Amino acid sequence: MSEKENRWWEQAACKDKDPEIFFAYLGKQGSPKKGAEQEAKKICAGCPVQKECLQDAFEEESRTAILPLGIRAGLTGRERKDLFNRTMRFR
Ligand code: SF4
Repeated sequence: MSEKENRWWEQAACKDKDPEIFFAYLGKQGSPKKGAEQEAKKICAGCPVQKECLQDAFEEESRTAILPLGIRAGLTGRERKDLFNRTMRFR
């Protein structure tokens, strides 16, 4: 992996955003907080390193059976887990 690829997060659209935006969707008792998930997904939609972010999430989250939390690469934990299982699991 090149130095540029290693430092992809420096270009992340969420770099200077409040991390709460990406986890706020959990709300109280795990219920979705209205609008928060869409706000995070909107930021991810304009992110130039969404592909690298998804790859990083897959690498991290594939090591555990626990459902991942937060919005990453424009996807909820459930959406990432489903995508991983459909596309990457048996490679
Ligand atoms: S895709 Fe979303 S979570 Fe990932 S780096 Fe970009 S803005 Fe952050």
